[in-house]
Amino acid sequence: MTAAFSPMEDPETAPFFEAARRGELRIQACTNCARLRFPPRPMCPWCHSLDSEWQRQSGRGRIWSFAVPHPPLLPPFAEEAPYVVAVIELDEDPLIRLVGNIVREVDGSIGVVPSSELSIGAGVTAVFGKSIEGFPVPQWVMSAN
Ligand SMILES: [Zn+2]
Repeated sequence: MTAAFSPMEDPETAPFFEAARRGELRIQACTNCARLRFPPRPMCPWCHSLDSEWQRQSGRGRIWSFAVPHPPLLPPFAEEAPYVVAVIELDEDPLIRLVGNIVREVDGSIGVVPSSELSIGAGVTAVFGKSIEGFPVPQWVMSAN
């Protein structure tokens, strides 16, 4: 993949990527009202506090939605088509949703798991494989349950 598709790292998102490089899924949490928020931002959208911390999550979630993108696709992804892009809701807070690919194993191809194997609500677990130009992004494997 090329730099054009790298995630943005800035002071707000850096803790997410620092944790991901250690294989940890951390989500920003308000230290005033304790609610999680994602994507990261300076102010809590519920209580307007500016205080936050990065809490480690279990990495478990469920498929909230998924789709198979159709051409035209960005060149680095065209070679892997067809593949699934899924929206995952975290077990700790179903309102926290991350977009990612479903893979069979860490660093697996994104085009291996067909949409016919997936269903809304199916359990998944985050895995962190090789990074894309230094930015590890979570991918998801199907859970046993
Ligand atoms: Zn708050």
